[in-house]
Amino acid sequence: MGSADDAGREAFAFDHQPPSTRVSFGAGTLAALPRLAADLGLRRLLVLSTPGRADLAATAAALLGERCAGRFTEARMHVPVAVADRARGVARDLAADGCVAVGGGSTTGLAKALALDPGLPYLAVPTSYAGSEMTPVWGLTDAGRKTTGRDPAVLPRTVLYDPDLTLTLPARTSVTSAMNAVAHAVEALYAPDTSPFVALLAEEGVRRLAGALPGIVREPGDRRARADALYGAWLCGSCLGVTTMSLHHRLCHVLGGALDLPHAETHTVVLPHVLAFNEEAARDRLAPLGRALDTGYPPTALQELSRSLGAPRSLADLGMTEADIDPTAELLLAQQPFANPRPVTRGDARALLRAAYTGADV
Ligand code: NAD
Repeated sequence: MGSADDAGREAFAFDHQPPSTRVSFGAGTLAALPRLAADLGLRRLLVLSTPGRADLAATAAALLGERCAGRFTEARMHVPVAVADRARGVARDLAADGCVAVGGGSTTGLAKALALDPGLPYLAVPTSYAGSEMTPVWGLTDAGRKTTGRDPAVLPRTVLYDPDLTLTLPARTSVTSAMNAVAHAVEALYAPDTSPFVALLAEEGVRRLAGALPGIVREPGDRRARADALYGAWLCGSCLGVTTMSLHHRLCHVLGGALDLPHAETHTVVLPHVLAFNEEAARDRLAPLGRALDTGYPPTALQELSRSLGAPRSLADLGMTEADIDPTAELLLAQQPFANPRPVTRGDARALLRAAYTGADV
């Protein structure tokens, strides 16, 4: 991809299809939930959440009043098939005509399962920075195996971004969730289907998130910083939704599936290592990242930022053992071919995993 100035000298072409999702952003936006649901013609909504966010699900249900058919508060990480089946049964018994997903990526993931089957439309109210609400990617886990796919049908009709709902996200979780979002922007920059538009989203998304994090860690109730971070998360999620992810997302997917490592924390630890691996091959395309972080070498800047804010340093910290390195490398290689700025050999995969396992400086 070249800059517009390069257009005469090198190929400047792209294909970009943004989702048709309505986005309503602002402090206090949750109050608009009944109106936004009414705009979609939905009358019997099932409110979804994790057990930890059941209080927020109750608030959403109260706001919806007669438009709320009931609540299902058993959403879990990686959408176990059994949980999705139970939610489908509840939706059927209540004759729900749609859902409201209030919470992080786990809750959005459950809404996506119900959007696939039985095809219920939904509104998303994200309370973390994971960005799932902007992507057509769904996932389901059965007997420890996660299946994923892409289908525009799983995109929400409407997203309500209310930064006030993120005030309760603990500082440490905010940092790792934000790094999860930054990873979307990083891989979108060097994706085979990137575009100049995506590069703008990625740069501004990372700038907002990285700029907001120190303030959030100092004062988790800082509403200005929370709004910046959630806005950045939307931009980064939008990058994820329209591009093909590469080595970093493949590796984190394998680590989450095979070793059950926590999602956002794994992204946080792995990202600087993958970035260091790809940096030379993708230097030009990563220029917006350097500008966003005000650095000449983004891998170190990202690692130092997350560590200075108390994020985990190594995959060992997250529960991986040294014996896991080689089998995990094999699982990654079994996913090939996948997009990446440079090829990944067995030696590369092992070295990368070892560096992330020990928490080496990049
Ligand atoms: P999560 O949804 O599991 O949330 C983590 C924990 O934080 C939960 O216990 C939740 O109840 C709590 N929480 C969320 N928001 C909170 C808030 N504002 N205040 C207090 N507590 C809060 O985790 P996540 O990191 O948001 O999402 C991870 C999941 O999303 C993974 O399963 C991942 O695979 C998926 N994901 C999917 C996509 C996609 O495009 N399909 C993209 C990103 C993530």
